[in-house]
Amino acid sequence: MQCLFGRFIRRVSTFGRVLFGVARRIDYETLSRYMLHFNQMQDLPSIMHETSKCMKEILNYKLFAFVVKAGGQLDVWVDPRISEAALKQIVQDDFATDGAFNTYPMNPDYGESPGMISFQEEQMLSFALMDDGYFAKLYVLPERAMLDYHKEIIGIIVKSLGVAVSNYLNMKRLENDAAIDPMTDCYNRRAFDRMIQHNIHNAHRYNRDLSVIMLDLDRFKSVNDLYGHPAGDKVLVEVARLILSAIRKSDYAVRYGGEEFVVVLPETRLAKALELAERLRRLIESSSVQVANGRQVSVTASFGVAALSEHSDAESLFNEADTMLYRAKASGRNKVMPGMKLCLLESSQPASVAQTHHQ
Ligand code: GH3
Ligand code: MG
Ligand code: MG
Repeated sequence: MQCLFGRFIRRVSTFGRVLFGVARRIDYETLSRYMLHFNQMQDLPSIMHETSKCMKEILNYKLFAFVVKAGGQLDVWVDPRISEAALKQIVQDDFATDGAFNTYPMNPDYGESPGMISFQEEQMLSFALMDDGYFAKLYVLPERAMLDYHKEIIGIIVKSLGVAVSNYLNMKRLENDAAIDPMTDCYNRRAFDRMIQHNIHNAHRYNRDLSVIMLDLDRFKSVNDLYGHPAGDKVLVEVARLILSAIRKSDYAVRYGGEEFVVVLPETRLAKALELAERLRRLIESSSVQVANGRQVSVTASFGVAALSEHSDAESLFNEADTMLYRAKASGRNKVMPGMKLCLLESSQPASVAQTHHQ
């Protein structure tokens, strides 16, 4: 009897080992299938999507979350959505922050409803990843029983994820460095040439407004001549700071030439663009920077403003802004063109702005 029982146990355990072996092989095959894709992923949404899909297949997780802190920004990828409070708690505890973060829910079609996930903290697996540019944590709450080799699989996923995230962030940094003028923090001409085509295409396609402001510092050569080139640089930095502080997140500023800037304003009509130009004109006029020997230097700027019309393209839009800038210079500088009176005469659009001082 004992012998029979022994044989039965041996058979069951052999069967168990075979099953374990099969499960292990399937999981490793799944892993290598995903790994193949993984190395080709270029952007964070795809990287997250593939990682979560791979983990879903292998562990059938209840919760997957990835929190990454890079460049002063916190991004949270989560599947399924969990209650804001639970998510906030995790982020606050592990990232020592009570600031805002961006949440990106993934795989909404998996069908869990918001706020339904409850878990005990000790059930949650978490893995930290970091390099010079970021600190991140991956959280997984497995549904399936964790087998020995799962730890190894997760280790491989986490390592690949770390490499993919580092590559992605490095690439972003390089792209950004190549697009930004290091002195003023505004976009450079090269980036602008690419971006404006996209903005104009979208504005035409969806019948949206788009305006541009072109501004050039007045008699800037004499600032250099009087106070020296470093003082001129300091003034440029301050003007750029004023511009960047005054525009919306959806707008962007470009260093168009040495002392010439362009502000691109998507979803903005001429009247609103003129209002902003006038605000910038005043800001620049009333600011000053301290240069060597405690001297204060002030500058003014002239502005040309133009709005995209049905028939205009990048070239005609910027020609128009340039013509307006030329008019502002020709009529005495420190002005915005077209003046509001002209704008009201030329446009049938209602303008909600007060008349500017200079006409
Ligand atoms: P206007 O009112 O007609 O625009 O006169 P302006 O003197 O500003 O125009 P001009 O085009 O004759 O001179 C532009 C000056 O801007 C000359 C150039 O040395 C200076 N400039 C351009 N880029 C820089 C820079 O990066 N730093 C400094 N300090 N000066 C610069
Ligand atoms: Mg100038
Ligand atoms: Mg100039």
